[in-house]
Amino acid sequence: MSYVDEVIELVEKKNASEPEFLQAVKEVLNSLRVVIEADEEKYRKEALLERICEPERQIKFRVPWVDDKGQVQVNTGYRIQFNSAIGPYKGGLRLHPSVNTGIIKFLGFEQIFKNSLTGLPIGGGKGGSDFDPKGKSDREVMAFCQSFMTELCKHIGADTDVPAGDIGTGAREIGYMFGQYKRIKGVYEGVLTGKGLTYGGSLARTEATGYGLLYITEEMMKCHGDTMEGKTVVVSGAGNVAIYAIQKAHQMGAKVVTCSDSTGWVYDPDGIDVELLKEIKEVKRARLTEYVAARPSAQYHEGRGVWQVKCDIALPCATQNELLIDDAKLLVANGCKAVCEGANMPTTIEATEYLQANGVLFICGKAANAGGVATSALEMSQNSERLSWTFEEVDSKLKQIMVNIYHNIDDAAKKYGLEGNYVAGANIAGFLKVAEAMEAQGVC
Ligand code: GLU
Repeated sequence: MSYVDEVIELVEKKNASEPEFLQAVKEVLNSLRVVIEADEEKYRKEALLERICEPERQIKFRVPWVDDKGQVQVNTGYRIQFNSAIGPYKGGLRLHPSVNTGIIKFLGFEQIFKNSLTGLPIGGGKGGSDFDPKGKSDREVMAFCQSFMTELCKHIGADTDVPAGDIGTGAREIGYMFGQYKRIKGVYEGVLTGKGLTYGGSLARTEATGYGLLYITEEMMKCHGDTMEGKTVVVSGAGNVAIYAIQKAHQMGAKVVTCSDSTGWVYDPDGIDVELLKEIKEVKRARLTEYVAARPSAQYHEGRGVWQVKCDIALPCATQNELLIDDAKLLVANGCKAVCEGANMPTTIEATEYLQANGVLFICGKAANAGGVATSALEMSQNSERLSWTFEEVDSKLKQIMVNIYHNIDDAAKKYGLEGNYVAGANIAGFLKVAEAMEAQGVC
């Protein structure tokens, strides 16, 4: 049996109840075959793949807090410190009822390669809790965040592990967590990113994931003799990634006609009104039904369905496994040219393979959404030098990073005879840097 197959079998056996983690591992290991097979005995002897698939440390803890009725609630907190070969652990904190060990492991595993692709010195980690901020008062969210950080602060630090936002964790939550960290540790340091601008945050961090997604999409289009100008774009999600992806797509002359949340989706043939969407999602924290109430040109549909809308480019920006094989078939049938992932692993393996086999340009999340964490690393740099850079400075660095990622994954795919397969290119390029650092640091 090949070394890759041996490790896939082992990981399946050890993590049978974690389907998302297995999905992420299989996707990566399958595309590493060309690299591993060129030097199989060395990698097997070093047990490099077994090591890269096993988190360095998994922290799981109780998070008790008191709700507005005086009732004690208990959630589970997680931080998985997956790989520190190339830098301190870095990755977001997801607050969502679906969070469990398998979800955090899949996200942490993806983060290793994503962070490597940014070209910046950050290792892979991820955390979060099954706490649902939806429908909670500010005081309840603060109570949860303070309790969560009371335990988490023992395991993180500006040079150890630097968490950030993800689904359910935005500026409000990061603020409460930062306050609690400072209070307990008595240290004012860049222990979290995505902070507010008055206390060490970076300009352009809020916009970074969505903007970065469009920068890499534009570069890919450019390299295929095309532009974003006049393109019809379908976006899923209505959170931080989706909002700024829509904004940047419009700035580039494209028209985004959809967005979605956990209960339904909006089709707006005139183009999504980003200011209205921001007001509904960032200020009121309300449902998308409010969007159509304020905008007669738009239609609201219950459930899921954005992928049935005819488009040139599709940008899944909601969550894992939201673009399935039937959606991929619809996109291809409707003439979609490109799919770039703003979320982490939104496309199933089957759907990804179908899109690629049908000539759709496809960039996976670990490359396409790396702009968020890359800008977090820029926030870390600014915190270390105790300076803050202008919006333009950060934005132009972000753009350069995304352009570099595109060429890096394109070159890696070409080098291994897989031209145009950006999934393989991303996995290979991300892996090689981490593997080299792990080898240099010996068995650890
Ligand atoms: N949660 C984001 C991601 O999936 C950002 C992480 C960060 O900024 O550290 O990459």
